[in-house]
Amino acid sequence: MKERILRGIPVNGDFGYGEIKIYYPELPVIERKEILSDEIEKELERFEEAIFLSKEDFEKIYQKVRDEMGKDIAEFIKIQIAFLTDETIIEETRDFIKKEKVPAEYAYSEIIKRYYQNLASKGHSVFIDKSLEIFDVCLYVIEKLTNYEKRFSLFQPTEKCLIFGKSLSPMNMAILDKNYILGIALEMGGKTSHISIMAKAKEIPTVVGVENLLHFSNNVKKAIIDGNRGMVILNPTEKRLKFYEKEKEEITKRKKMIIAQKEKEAKTKDGKYIDISANIEFIYEAVIAKENGAKGIGLFRTEYLFLSKKDLPSEEEQYQLYKEVAEKMKPYFVIIRTFDLGGDKIIPGYFESNPFLGWRGIRFCLSNLNFFKTQLRAILRASQTKNIKIMLPMVTNIDEIIKTKQLLNELKEELKKENIDFDENIELGVMIETPSAVLLSDVFGKLCNFFSIGSNDLTQYTLACDRGNEKISYLFSHYHPAVLRLIKETIKNGHKNGIWVGLCGELASEPFGIIILLGMGIDELSMAPQFIPYAKELISFLDIDFCKEIAEKVVNFSTVNEVIRYLKKRVKKEGIFLEKYSYV
Ligand code: PEP
Ligand code: MG
Repeated sequence: MKERILRGIPVNGDFGYGEIKIYYPELPVIERKEILSDEIEKELERFEEAIFLSKEDFEKIYQKVRDEMGKDIAEFIKIQIAFLTDETIIEETRDFIKKEKVPAEYAYSEIIKRYYQNLASKGHSVFIDKSLEIFDVCLYVIEKLTNYEKRFSLFQPTEKCLIFGKSLSPMNMAILDKNYILGIALEMGGKTSHISIMAKAKEIPTVVGVENLLHFSNNVKKAIIDGNRGMVILNPTEKRLKFYEKEKEEITKRKKMIIAQKEKEAKTKDGKYIDISANIEFIYEAVIAKENGAKGIGLFRTEYLFLSKKDLPSEEEQYQLYKEVAEKMKPYFVIIRTFDLGGDKIIPGYFESNPFLGWRGIRFCLSNLNFFKTQLRAILRASQTKNIKIMLPMVTNIDEIIKTKQLLNELKEELKKENIDFDENIELGVMIETPSAVLLSDVFGKLCNFFSIGSNDLTQYTLACDRGNEKISYLFSHYHPAVLRLIKETIKNGHKNGIWVGLCGELASEPFGIIILLGMGIDELSMAPQFIPYAKELISFLDIDFCKEIAEKVVNFSTVNEVIRYLKKRVKKEGIFLEKYSYV
């Protein structure tokens, strides 16, 4: 078979080479067959045994995931076990076998299909998408019941491989074991969609938005996923493999050198310090953040708690979790972002035609006060560690900040009456990720202690371009001069108010982004932990005057291409070789 190159959106480097496993969360077509009345009992027993054995296997998987990835991620496996042992589904399947006189696998798959249709008709839910996930566990049972070809299971990869698919759900992503998964290629998704963010957190080479990936990879056994260049190479030639092997040697050497210096300060050649902190979604990442030399957590995306829970985690559960992260990160700070549900992290059972412009972030929290108060109280209680800050997502109006401050004051009074310790001076920050927040940042700055620019959303809302849609990914760029002007304005207004300004979108880890942001006077950069040593290394080669010159210039161009062309030329002239950074 000839080599074929498919192009997509680069998400995370370097590259992975291996056998392709296709991930289809779909039920197989099972032909209906009649059984005799005296065979019914045998079918019921077979069904019960399949459920029992599957449950045993999933309990083992639960233990393994809990040991290796932590309790919060292991919760996802519990959802599978709960679905597997759901009494109603089991009873309905048993009735179906008896009434319709059909084999267990047919009855079970029919009942599951009904459940799926029921869930799907209640509105597509990407973030808490039980509709996709249930197929994993159900297929597992069907495999036990039939000779149905053993499908690749995300739960139990037995050998190293690449995953090809249309899309993966956040829960799928959460349980992926990076020791087995050498790379991910998907037909859907964008550079800053949440699946891509999770792929970066796991450090798995990933390319998304690959058109016709599954069609072209039909019957192909091996491939290379090049997460730097955004390429999927099917049936790579020997020459191509040699090229990648050589590149890998160089990258590994460079990585070792850079990582060895991860503890050094992020300081420019002319002595300016920048805070480099980490973005995390799960507790175990706090340890990885520290290992990579993070000087704090600049963004803790708490809404990921909902991945493993149907309902709001209790105040006590949240308190324990926030405290654990804060204690792990001491003496550095932890910025806990309040729940940013909505957008592509859709609220269960709630359907919106335009979710990114809908009931998202602070809007959702302020209209569900009990829900919001539970989280704020848990954060306040955890703040006894004295290194926690609070941050609000998706703010567009001054009222949202004022109302949150009132709530915080009420809760502080409540805690005082209850004699519960908390940080009286806990800082409140606002994410600047909508154009209205930028334009009002001179006013917002008077009401809060810091800003963190969410460049992913700021780009999406400024350019009216869905961050997760591969069809319009050619329009999505945080190097658009309109976006760069808004970032500059935010930093200026923050500093005018005497507060610090950070940036926690994907732009913070990109070499060009770092140069521009330093030139604009950014105080903090927060990124996926793996990029921290690289960012520190790059910063140590930079001179603030050079960065300022670049920052002045880029906002005066009128297109992304002009900005990029200029950056490439200017950086080369300065003698900075960005190829050194494998994630360029
Ligand atoms: C952002 O929008 O840039 C951001 C950091 O928040 P999130 O990616 O979680 O929306
Ligand atoms: Mg955002």
